[in-house]
Amino acid sequence: MRDLGKIKTVVVKVGTNLLSSKTGIDTERICDIADQVSRLRDLGYYVLIVSSGAIGMGAKALKHNNPVKHIPLRQACAAIGNPLLMTAYQEAFAKHKLICGQVLITRNVLNNRTGYNNMRAAVTTLLQLGVVPIFNENDVVSTSEINNVFGDNDRMSAYVASKIDADLLVLMTDIDGVYTGNPKTDPDAKLIGEIPEISPEIFGYAKGAGSTFSTGGMKTKLLAAQIAQKGGCGTMIISGYEKDSLVRSVLGESIGTYILPEKRLAQRQRWIYNTASAGSVIVDEGAEKALTVGHKSLLPSGIKNVEGVFNDGDVIDIKTTDKNVIMKAITGFNSSDLLRIMGHSTKDIAKMLGDVPKVVFRPEDSVYID
Ligand code: GLU
Repeated sequence: MRDLGKIKTVVVKVGTNLLSSKTGIDTERICDIADQVSRLRDLGYYVLIVSSGAIGMGAKALKHNNPVKHIPLRQACAAIGNPLLMTAYQEAFAKHKLICGQVLITRNVLNNRTGYNNMRAAVTTLLQLGVVPIFNENDVVSTSEINNVFGDNDRMSAYVASKIDADLLVLMTDIDGVYTGNPKTDPDAKLIGEIPEISPEIFGYAKGAGSTFSTGGMKTKLLAAQIAQKGGCGTMIISGYEKDSLVRSVLGESIGTYILPEKRLAQRQRWIYNTASAGSVIVDEGAEKALTVGHKSLLPSGIKNVEGVFNDGDVIDIKTTDKNVIMKAITGFNSSDLLRIMGHSTKDIAKMLGDVPKVVFRPEDSVYID
């Protein structure tokens, strides 16, 4: 058995492969998930689902059997598939006298404080009403061209878990955890039961991605676990084909791979960590030391270069001269002002820009990236 600590809120992410049948939706699998979720609820857990499968289901309804790459067609498939998926969930939960509700989000919703507060209020109300919230990315409007995508539901589920302070993220997939190699081709590949820290070696085990309709893979699952870790949330990667795997893993049975949580970062730091960076600044060695060892503010004099176009208040990456990202921070200056004042002393800046902040960011507006 595993000691998972006190678990109250669980986010369960269900992958496309697990839900797909040759003709559309694997309703038996959905019934099985609904059954396990209802048992967890009876045991007193709050459970939220993040479900993939909309694009695949839409594609199958249109009799497209190949990967859907054309973006407007993916949007169309999502529009067709989401109600099909929800209908299957509604019917499955009705057998347990439970109601489920759909929550479609985009990355902007979580990045933006008002959007996030709105979502949180809706989700809290759904949970108080005893409803099971079912999330998906709003793929009908969320496309990579407008830069507001999560890209895959693995990471989206981790952002959701982090935002709602969940205690456990369960990624249900078609493989029973993280292996040291590809178990389908390598007979020596071993299942890793517990991962305290997601090292580059662990990432090395996770190559390749998704299948016909899904976008994830083991790499995105590890990236998701990293996001969850910062929110003090552990991640379980389990096979949805194994009997009762969801209930068993939440109750602490040693199945699948468990990625341990880290100390929960404050919401502000998590928000910085989870927000896509609008650009970067490259700092010299002195500033790097002041930031990482001295935990000081960043002064314009320590900046060597500025990349991208951003506004003050945006989240940016802080990079070393060899382009390693060491921190993310909320910048107090826009990119064009920073380009003018970089390398200059505080005295000069007052002359150049007038009454502006003295520092680019303070420690409380930044987070370290490991
Ligand atoms: N949101 C996509 C869908 O519902 C799935 C993305 C993923 O596979 O991670 O089809």
